[in-house]
Amino acid sequence: MLRLLLLFSLLFSFSAIAADSTKTLQRADRFLKSGNKSEIFRAYNDYKNLYLTAVINNDEGLRHRSLEGIVSSGKRLHIDVAKYDKELSSTSSKSKPLPKKSIKKKETKKKVTVSKRYMLRSVNWKDGRLILRLNKSLPSKQLNYFKLYDKKRKKYRYVFDMHDTQLDKHYKLHHANIQRISLAQFRPNTLRLVIEHDKALKIRFKLDRNALIINPGVKKPVEKTRPVKKVTAPVVHDRMMAKTIVLDPGHGGRDGGAVGYRKYREKMVVLQISREVSKLLKKEGHKVYMTRSDDSAVKLQKRTQFANIKKADIFISIHANAVPKRNAHKVSGIETYFLSNNTDSGSERAKRVAKMENSKDLKDVNFYGQTDFINILNREKIKRSERLAHDLQRNILATLKKSYKGVKDTGVREGPFWVLVGAQMPSVLIEVGFITHPTEALRLGKSAYQKKMAEGIVQGIEQYFLKNP
Ligand SMILES: [Zn+2]
Repeated sequence: MLRLLLLFSLLFSFSAIAADSTKTLQRADRFLKSGNKSEIFRAYNDYKNLYLTAVINNDEGLRHRSLEGIVSSGKRLHIDVAKYDKELSSTSSKSKPLPKKSIKKKETKKKVTVSKRYMLRSVNWKDGRLILRLNKSLPSKQLNYFKLYDKKRKKYRYVFDMHDTQLDKHYKLHHANIQRISLAQFRPNTLRLVIEHDKALKIRFKLDRNALIINPGVKKPVEKTRPVKKVTAPVVHDRMMAKTIVLDPGHGGRDGGAVGYRKYREKMVVLQISREVSKLLKKEGHKVYMTRSDDSAVKLQKRTQFANIKKADIFISIHANAVPKRNAHKVSGIETYFLSNNTDSGSERAKRVAKMENSKDLKDVNFYGQTDFINILNREKIKRSERLAHDLQRNILATLKKSYKGVKDTGVREGPFWVLVGAQMPSVLIEVGFITHPTEALRLGKSAYQKKMAEGIVQGIEQYFLKNP
């Protein structure tokens, strides 16, 4: 059985939503008082959206207030609000005051252990090629290269990340025909070289013993490298770049998710992959939380609530796909979902799957219609979720294809998946493959493949954050 969850991106940060709720509530109260029918209708919609927010965030005070609003505005509009009325009488009228602007707690930065496995020893230009020498040879898996196009600034960026690598001193790099080259300690354990230009470059590179040699493919190089005289300790420039990521391994406990080929279980496979992703992200200095770290059951709503509480920058739910046995050998592939507010956009299949997946512990959420959820979706967050989905999908596929044959890309998809309603940050759901497909299932069960998958996911995340800092 397919287990797609639903995804959502409500866009505000946690504190923003509280402030936002207060404002919306005041506005709704104003509309309600006006006596004008269309304004009362707006009030009604506001209250329903607030109710949704309250359910998602377990905010009893807001829930009570919004129910009161729904009932009084609904009655005046002759809308059937009996269900809400009933719920209202069961909620406590001792409503907690709405949170004012939440007080930002100072977060204690987690200490990152800095590995000193590889040290950059020198940087030079030679015959038009940039040569970075390390203390020892860097394995290719420690090097991550990717290209980006910055639409806003109309720049091409070529990025080399050297993992577990430290800068010994600062270098200023110049090339007469390249706009900008920067080399910096991007994270405690990652050294990053960025070549930026307004035209596309044909960059070639190789790892040759202890050197990374980059040919930017630009004619007539007149170049100079000069180490800054004073040797200073490497500065970790992007403290701010350390992000908080919540990983959500699907299912768990009695909910085993899909059962596949040779009885492989989705809940186990996705947990193993999530653990690998977590390990890699932590190594990069990110904060990572998992909605479950063992085989325990976690309710759907709790998963996104958890991400909200942790103030995650992104939420990634990890699942494995399945089809009925008769099609098992035919259907394989990796796909990434994001939730969109375009109700017509989901494929029939996505709708069916979402329905199946959504049913269990969503009593509260099922209570009101899908459109209510969709109303509170913010376009900007949807766009971010979509970008995240594309970055993940592209990098997962690229990474796996380097080592495995026949890896199938079934694309980035959108649909009315509303199980994960309530994540207040860009959120996506990855279907890492079909656990029912003989080849894909065998791969999914192996640690080497899981690690590759995790590498691809992490690269996708890094790329997303680079483009959406
Ligand atoms: Zn699933």
